[in-house]
Amino acid sequence: MSFGRRRIWLIVLVFVSGILCSAIDAQTPAKKALSDDPEFARVVKEWTTRPEFISPLVDHLPKVQGVPSPKDVLGHYIGEPKKLTYYNDILKYYRALAAATPRVKLVSIGKSNEGRDLVVVFVGSDESIRNLEQYRTYLGQLADPRSTTAEQAAQIIAKAKPLYHLSGGLHSGEVGPSEMLMELVYRLATEDSPIIRQIRDNVIVSVTPVADPDGRDRNVDWYYRYGINETEGRTTGAGVPYWGKYVFHDDNRDINYSQVEMRSLLDWYFQYHPPIMHDLHQAQTLLYTFSGQAPQNPNLDPILYGELPMMANFEMAQFAKYGMPGVWTHGFVDMWSPGYLAFMSSNHNGMIRMYEIQGFSGANTQKMRLGNPNAAGGRGGRAGAPGADDAAAAAAGRGSQSQREWYRPWPATGEFDWSLRNNTNYGETGVITALQYTSQFPKVILENFYVKSRNSVDTGRKETVAGYVIPAGQRDMTRVERVVNLLRMQGIEIGRATAEVKLQEGTFPAGSFIVKRDQPYSRLAKTLLEKQVYPDPNLRTYDDASWTMGLMSQTDVREIADKKILDLAVDPVKEKEIHLAGRTTGDGSTFAVAHNGSNNMVTLRYQLKDLKVQAAEKEFKQGDAVFPAGSFVVSGDAARVKRAVEALGLTAVALPSAPQVPLHDLDLPRVAMYSTWGNTQDVGWVRYAFDKFEVPYDLIYKERVRKGDLKGAYDVIVIPNQGGSGKRLVFDIEPRGQPIEYKKSDKFQNLGGYGESDDITGGMGLEGVAEFDKFVKAGGVLVTLGSASFFPAEFGLAPRVDAARTSAQFYAPGPIIDADILQPEHPIFYGYDKKTIPVRYASGPLLSVQTGGNPFEGPPPAGPPPTPQSVLMRYPGGDEHVLSGLMRGANEVRNRAAIVDQPSGKGRVILFAGNPCYRWQNFGEFNLLFNTLLNFNDIKTPPERPASSTAGQ
Ligand SMILES: [Zn+2]
Repeated sequence: MSFGRRRIWLIVLVFVSGILCSAIDAQTPAKKALSDDPEFARVVKEWTTRPEFISPLVDHLPKVQGVPSPKDVLGHYIGEPKKLTYYNDILKYYRALAAATPRVKLVSIGKSNEGRDLVVVFVGSDESIRNLEQYRTYLGQLADPRSTTAEQAAQIIAKAKPLYHLSGGLHSGEVGPSEMLMELVYRLATEDSPIIRQIRDNVIVSVTPVADPDGRDRNVDWYYRYGINETEGRTTGAGVPYWGKYVFHDDNRDINYSQVEMRSLLDWYFQYHPPIMHDLHQAQTLLYTFSGQAPQNPNLDPILYGELPMMANFEMAQFAKYGMPGVWTHGFVDMWSPGYLAFMSSNHNGMIRMYEIQGFSGANTQKMRLGNPNAAGGRGGRAGAPGADDAAAAAAGRGSQSQREWYRPWPATGEFDWSLRNNTNYGETGVITALQYTSQFPKVILENFYVKSRNSVDTGRKETVAGYVIPAGQRDMTRVERVVNLLRMQGIEIGRATAEVKLQEGTFPAGSFIVKRDQPYSRLAKTLLEKQVYPDPNLRTYDDASWTMGLMSQTDVREIADKKILDLAVDPVKEKEIHLAGRTTGDGSTFAVAHNGSNNMVTLRYQLKDLKVQAAEKEFKQGDAVFPAGSFVVSGDAARVKRAVEALGLTAVALPSAPQVPLHDLDLPRVAMYSTWGNTQDVGWVRYAFDKFEVPYDLIYKERVRKGDLKGAYDVIVIPNQGGSGKRLVFDIEPRGQPIEYKKSDKFQNLGGYGESDDITGGMGLEGVAEFDKFVKAGGVLVTLGSASFFPAEFGLAPRVDAARTSAQFYAPGPIIDADILQPEHPIFYGYDKKTIPVRYASGPLLSVQTGGNPFEGPPPAGPPPTPQSVLMRYPGGDEHVLSGLMRGANEVRNRAAIVDQPSGKGRVILFAGNPCYRWQNFGEFNLLFNTLLNFNDIKTPPERPASSTAGQ
C-alpha cells in the first residue's frame, strides 16, 4: 500500500492549492467574454423556463473565428424547443469541429447493427490531443501494476492526465444529453474561463456522442412524426416500437456485451483505459447523480466506494451554490449488478458514473407537476412520462422525488414548465462540475486508478478464492469456449494448464482453463464466476441479483482456494477469441453427432438443412463413444458434414451401419416469432439468439395473426416473454382514438424497421386469440416464454393449465435456482444429462396443471396430488434451491411447474414459466427452446393419468 509518504504529502499540497484556486474560481465560474455570442445568451435565457434552471457555467457561449459552433453547422442552438438532431448531423458537427481545431479529434470504433459509424470524440488542450498516444500509453501502464512499480507509477502520474469518458444516447428516448454534448465539446475546445481552461489543461475528455445511434434516428423520426404535435392532455400514448435492432434499455444491462455498439466501446476501452466512464441518462427529477448505494458488490475496491459519493456530493453542492434545485444522490441505483454500460470502467478498476437528468423523449416544453413536500403525507407525485427505468424505480418502491431527504436536501417542487434547454443546462452544468473536480484532483484520480488496479492483483493473492478452473474434457466444450471468450472479451487473463493439475479441490486434465486471481481484473473474474451471495434480503436492487456465468451456461467452473493455482504452469490464451475445433472420426457417408447440450446443434441442423438428419430417441454407443438421446444421425455429403461438425466444435463418428435405436426425422419447422408492438425488447433478445445460432424465423405481429391460417404458414410459433399478463399480451397498446402507424416513408426513413403497421395500437384482440387457438388445434406448436405463458392459461388455449402470481412479499430479481427434470425422455431435454439443472428464475407465472376430468369442474379431491405427465420440469423451491442471488419467499415456487407440455387438438402448447433465452446469458437453457423447434413434430403426447386432481403446484 505504501505509495511513499513524501509523495503523498506533495500530492496533498497540490490539492490544497487546488482547493484554494477552486474557491476563487467558483466566484466567477465563467467571466463573460467580449467574444461571447449575444444571440446565444438571449435565446438560452428565453428557452430556460425559470431563472434558477441555469448556471453561470452555461449561460453564455464563445464565438470563435474559424471554429464552428453547433449552430454554425446544425443551424440552431442546442436546446431549442422542438429541435432534435439526427445522428448523421451530430457526426457532421463533430467532424467539422475536429477539422477546425487541434483540440478535438474523432476516432472511428466500428459500425452499429444498422451500419452507422460508431465514434469517440476527444477534446483537450492542443498539447493533450497532439500527445494523445502518449497519454493513452500512460493509462495502459497504470492499468497493469505488475509491469509498473509504485516508483514508476509515481513518475507516470506526474506526467499523465486522466481520461474522462462521457456517453449520451444509450437510451434513445433520453434525447437531451446527445444534444448537450455537442455544446460541451465546443465549449471545452473554445472557452477561456478559468474552470474550462483548467479542465482543458488537466483532463482529456472523450465522448460517445450517441451510444445507440440506430435507436437515436428511429426515436428522432418518431418525435417528428408524432411527438412534436403532442400537447398537454393530448399524447400519442405510445413510444416508437424499436430503438436499436434488438433492444431498448437492455443495452445498459448487456453484461456479456452482445450488442455490437457496446462491444465496440469495450474494445475501445482496452486501448484507452479511461479511469472514469459516465453515462448520461434522463429519467429523474431534476438531476440524480449516482453515488453507489447499497446493495454494493463487495468485490470492488473500497476506494471506489469513497470516490463515488465524493464526486456526487461535490456536484450536489455546486448545483446548490448556483441556486439550482432538485439535485440529489444516493436513493436510486445501487452497486450490485455489474452489467450497466459504464461498469465497464469500475469492473476494470476505474469508476462508473451516471446521471439521470429530467427530460422527455422529445423536445417539446412540457408542464411538470411535482408534489408538495409540506402537504399531508409529505410524498409528492413523480414527474415526466414514466419510462422503463422509471417504472422499475416505482415498482421498487423508491420514494417521491419532491421529498426532502438527507441525500436530497433541496428537492424541486411545485408546477413548472420543463424545456429541452433546461435539460441541457442541468446536464452540462453537472458534467462541467464533474470535470472541474477531476481537473482539480487529476493526480488523485490517476493514483486511485493505479492503486485499485494493484489492489486487485493483491487481493487476488490474499483472498480465499485464489482462482478458477474450467476443466477441459467437459461434455460440451462449445459452452466452455463461450465462457472463456466472454471472459477474454472483458480482458481477463486465462491460461491453459500445460499438464495435469492437482489442487486441493481436485485433479484436472491438461488443457484445463486456469483463471489466476493475481491479475489486474481478478475482481471482475470473481464477480462474474462466483455465486452471488446477496447481502441483505430486505434491500431491493435495480436489476438482476445474479449472473453466475458457470450456472447460467451450465458449464463446470470450479472455485479454487488452493494458492498453488497461482504458480501453475500455463500457456496464456493470447487470442481474444479461442475456437475449440470439433472432431470427426472414421469415414463413411453416415455420421452420428453427439448431442451433449451444445447450442450449436441447432446451427448444424440448419447448416445441413438439405441433408437427411434424424434424432436418436435413445442413447447408443459406437466404439467407445456414447451418443445420448437426441444425437443426430446425418446422411450424405460426408465432407460437408465433417466440415460443419468440426467448425461448430461438435463431435461425430462415422457409422458402419444405422444405430439400433428408434430414430425420427428432424424436419425443419417453419418458425414464427410473435411480437406485440408495445414490448419488443425481450422478443429482441430471442431474435438475437436465433440470429446468432442461424435459426430462421418470421417475425410476426398482430397484423399477420389476424389474417388467419397460421397453420398454413407455420409449424411453430414462439411468443417470447412480454406484456406481463395474458390480457396485456392480447390487447397491448391501448387505442388512442386515431391510428398510430409505424411505417417507413420518404420523410421518415428510420421507421418501419423490423415490421410495419398501419396502427400499432389495439393488440391482436380476441380475434387474434381465436387464430392462435385454431393454429394449435390444427397441429401447430405454440411456445410461450415467461410472462407470455399467462396468455394460453388465461385465454383457454391450455385449459388445464392455471397461471397464478406470487404474493406481494415475494421478491426474486432474477436469481438462479434449481429445476427438476421430470420427463427426461422428452425431446426438449435432449443433451441434458442431469436430473436437476440451474435455471434463471424470470418472474413468470406460477403454473399448475389439472389432470383428468373436466378442467372447469370444482376443486380436486384431497390427498397428495400426482404430478401430471404434462409437467416436464418443476421448481423444487425453498431457500436450499436458490443457487445464486436472491429469492425472498422461495417457498412460493415450491413444486410449481417450470415447463408444461399441454396437448390441444392436433397440436400443443409448451409453456415455460421461465425465460430460456434471457439477455444472451442463460446459454444452458437455450437448448430447451432449440430442442422444441427441432423436434416439433416428434413430441409424443404424454398419457393422461386417470386421477382427477391438481398437481404441479
Ligand atoms: Zn436511461
